[in-house]
Amino acid sequence: MSCLFCDIANGTIKGDCVYENDHVIAFHDINPQAPHHVLIIPKPHISTLNDIEEQHLALLGHMSIAAKHIASELNVADSGYRLVMNCNADAGQTVFHIHMHFLAGRQLAWPPG
Ligand code: 5GP
Ligand code: ZN
Repeated sequence: MSCLFCDIANGTIKGDCVYENDHVIAFHDINPQAPHHVLIIPKPHISTLNDIEEQHLALLGHMSIAAKHIASELNVADSGYRLVMNCNADAGQTVFHIHMHFLAGRQLAWPPG
C-alpha cells in the first residue's frame, strides 16, 4: 500500500525538510495555515492515532521533542505555537500516516473551527 508520508520519510518523494533524526522527519506543509506550518511525522507507518500502541511511546515522545527543537529554530518558543493531531473524518484527517501539525507565527484562534 503506498503512503505519501512514508515516501517522504524514505526519500522517494522530496519533502521540504526542516528537522530529521532516526525516528522522525519534519517538513513544510504544502498548504500552510500559518506563517510557520510544519508536519512532524514518525518514520514508521502508523495510520491513525487509533493504531498507536505501547511500542510507540518513545516515537510519540520523539515527535514532541522535535516540535520543541523546531520552535527554538524558528524563534517562536516564547511567542507560542500549537501542535495538532487529527484523527479520522470528524477531525479532518486526510493523510493516513499520523502527523503532528506545528503551527506558529500568528495569533491562533481557540476553539479551532
Ligand atoms: P490532515 O488533514 O491529515 O491532518 O493533514 C494533512 C496535511 O498534509 C494537510 O495540511 C496537507 O496540506 C498536507 N499535505 C498533503 N499532501 C502533501 C504533500 O504532498 N506534501 C506536503 N508537504 N504536505 C502535504
Ligand atoms: Zn505511511
